[in-house]
Amino acid sequence: MIYLNGQWQSVETAQIAVLDRGFLFGDGIYEVIPVYSRHPFRLDEHLGRLEASLASVRLTNPHPRETWRELVLEAISRHSFDDQSVYLQVTRGAGPNRDFPFPTSAQPSVFIYPMPLTTPSAETKAKGVSAITKADIRWLRCDIKAIALLANVLLRNEALAAGCAESVLLRDGMLTEGAASNIFVVKDGLLLAPPKSHLMLSGITYDLVLELAKQHGVPHEIRPVSEAEIRTADELWMTSSTKEVLAITTLDGFPVGTGRPGPMNAQMDAYYQTYKDSVLRQ
Ligand code: PLP
Repeated sequence: MIYLNGQWQSVETAQIAVLDRGFLFGDGIYEVIPVYSRHPFRLDEHLGRLEASLASVRLTNPHPRETWRELVLEAISRHSFDDQSVYLQVTRGAGPNRDFPFPTSAQPSVFIYPMPLTTPSAETKAKGVSAITKADIRWLRCDIKAIALLANVLLRNEALAAGCAESVLLRDGMLTEGAASNIFVVKDGLLLAPPKSHLMLSGITYDLVLELAKQHGVPHEIRPVSEAEIRTADELWMTSSTKEVLAITTLDGFPVGTGRPGPMNAQMDAYYQTYKDSVLRQ
């Protein structure tokens, strides 16, 4: 069952208007909230980012935070699986025709779609994944979690076509992020993260990794990271709500560091899993 504009219905038969601006222009925003044992993880942070995305594209928020929270909890309770990935999407709705000006009368379309969550298996975590580097061909407002993801779709599929899990994106010789993840670098025992800007999405997992680094005294710096630094890194990680903290062990066909997940990755994953367990027990 999914939620579409006030109604819980089957995903196979749910329909939206062809003039919906999400369909015509990609005029909308989204969120993905991981759910473990039926508990939404970092829900307030995700809803905060949803509110920020809506404000950035001048889309009136259709619901107060409490209603969003209730809808997410209802979506979770309507599904049989315990671990879920709850997709929330808001578009500007359908105008009277296909035209650029914001329609005055359109009602935003709200779509909530819970899916089973599959985090990386123990085997994948033990091995790490491969990635390729690609030029970051996206627009200059990657901080907005916009549904217009054509560049990300192409970049992720180029990685898949190369037998890799992710594209690591470079703009003007500097690391931005992954096609659907943030990227961390470890060099000589120092964790490096690119600073937040319009050129990357402010990941909820990115924030949590830095929070955990601070809390556990992991040496870290938030500063621009160059292409040369990712090519000579001891460790590379990709982070996201569904991939958690996953080591990239091959980049463009070359091993990253030893070619195996590094000690700092294992340590951060342990901090992450412990944090997750402690939150779930509350
Ligand atoms: N960057 C991009 C482009 C993403 O699509 C995502 C998540 O899908 C992330 C970063 C990671 O964000 P989060 O940790 O909030 O899932």
